[in-house]
Amino acid sequence: MIAGVDIGGTKIAVGMIDDHGRVLTQQQCPTDAAGGYDKALANIERMLRSTAQKVGVEITGIGIGSTGPVYPFEGEFGNVDFFPQWSGRKPVADLSHIFNVSVALENDADAAALGEAAWGAGRNKTRLIYVTVGTGIGVGVILDGKVYRGVDHAHPEIGHQVIEAAGPPCSCGLRGCWESLAAGPGLVAWLQRSAPADYPHRAGITAKRIFELARHGDELALRAVEHEACCLGIGLANLINIFVPDAILLGGSLMKSADLLMDGVRSIVAKGCRFVPSEKTEIALASLGDDTNLIGAARVWHSRFGA
Ligand SMILES: [Zn+2]
Repeated sequence: MIAGVDIGGTKIAVGMIDDHGRVLTQQQCPTDAAGGYDKALANIERMLRSTAQKVGVEITGIGIGSTGPVYPFEGEFGNVDFFPQWSGRKPVADLSHIFNVSVALENDADAAALGEAAWGAGRNKTRLIYVTVGTGIGVGVILDGKVYRGVDHAHPEIGHQVIEAAGPPCSCGLRGCWESLAAGPGLVAWLQRSAPADYPHRAGITAKRIFELARHGDELALRAVEHEACCLGIGLANLINIFVPDAILLGGSLMKSADLLMDGVRSIVAKGCRFVPSEKTEIALASLGDDTNLIGAARVWHSRFGA
């Protein structure tokens, strides 16, 4: 049985995933970056043992998807924003030693893309792009079933494509990145910048709340959602103009409100991708749901060591 380990900024999830991409059982705990890597590793070991025991299986391989940057072939964490002091630690070697099985690591967006390509809406797509839109934007590109990598196996940072050159500054060094405008915090920031002083919903507003308000006809929230669809659509139109993929699959927390966004997105793509057969690029929702990352993590093992 292959185990998946999904390491995010706020939580770590582990689970047993069968060869059809079904989660048999799973468990999670807070990432607790400040508690240190050794404690997180002990938590992962404990959860792996208890989930395996719960369904009475033996772990024969482990796949890890982690928020990045990570070095997939060294099996090592890079300088990850959420847990900088874990940089240089090697979860692949450590878990391999503890469980005496083969272990593989990928960036979590690449992991999710692999999961969708094998077991989800991305099946039989030669050129597949998976985009997750939540607190950030993560993108995984799969060509002929394999993760597209840059030089030194680098994961391309497509969330940092610039869509508004004079936009808000981003930690990457540029301004107006796709992620800084179209991820959840960008949506919230736009509403807060645009709201009049007496706007009643400003305090503590979240992306989720903005979508709820839009559903109830709140005018400012509707404009925020329209701006969100525009930002999301420009980034996706760029991906279509550059890659002309068979499909782009969308996941992440903001896509729970995809029904409010997709008309705007499609109209930008139709307007902005006239020189490529963009009507042949399917834009659809990822199909593995809330477990996409965990299932994808398990798929990382199959992708590296499977038949
Ligand atoms: Zn950036």
